[in-house]
Amino acid sequence: MRFPAVCPHCQREVQVEFADSAVHDVTCPQCSTRFCVFVRKQKFEVLFDLGTRALMDGYAREAVASFAAALERFFEFYVRSFALERAALAGQTDFDGAAGILESTWRHVSSQSERQVGMMALAYLLREGREPDFLTAKALGADFRNRVIHRGYLPRREEVDAYAARVFALIDRLLGELGTGAAHAELAQERQFAAHLAALPDGVTAVFEEHPGMFRARRFAGASPLGTKNLPGQPARAALPAKAAAPMNDAQAFQKALKERGPLLKGLRK
Ligand SMILES: [Zn+2]
Repeated sequence: MRFPAVCPHCQREVQVEFADSAVHDVTCPQCSTRFCVFVRKQKFEVLFDLGTRALMDGYAREAVASFAAALERFFEFYVRSFALERAALAGQTDFDGAAGILESTWRHVSSQSERQVGMMALAYLLREGREPDFLTAKALGADFRNRVIHRGYLPRREEVDAYAARVFALIDRLLGELGTGAAHAELAQERQFAAHLAALPDGVTAVFEEHPGMFRARRFAGASPLGTKNLPGQPARAALPAKAAAPMNDAQAFQKALKERGPLLKGLRK
């Protein structure tokens, strides 16, 4: 996936290929200026936006793979947020130390998604004191996902819309519950950026970008399509989903977000 960046020297647009690390060392093809683009975006956001873009372009099957990957990476994000938040609440001030232990722990589960779901189940239980009711195969749309990804099933558009809405609503709900807890995992990304920034040669300009996206708008603007408030500075657990006056179902919430935020994704290219 490519995104447009602006050269800090000649101001012309440069297409940059999105990197897994979200750090992009770029040389402007017009004026040869070197610069580095840091994109403040989590992997699950990138994947969900990619899925949305594929859906808008009519690639329903490809969209399913991206939405499924987005959900898996969101579970990782949740577990990481929880672990770092817990360390901070326990009075641990060595963030890098806590992040290092988390990193080496995650390696035990990183290659098997079933193990990651196990981590998610425990993280949710410990944080919310409730059963993770969303982890059933039915709630996750696991059967549909497997048919498409592993058995080559060609889904109809309406089936993909329903799956996308389900994944969107689940991530949206859990982000709402996580509240400011998400800041802990975001801080980990900032620390990685800072390390790369410190090693940049003289004369290379750093550019920080915050891309709009299906969740970005929701997390920083506060209002969720489901009617949940999630303003920065709220206590971590005060963001349980509020009952909206006229609650929307998953499909309506996704369609509303798609209408509002889908056009913002037009800048992304395959
Ligand atoms: Zn340039």
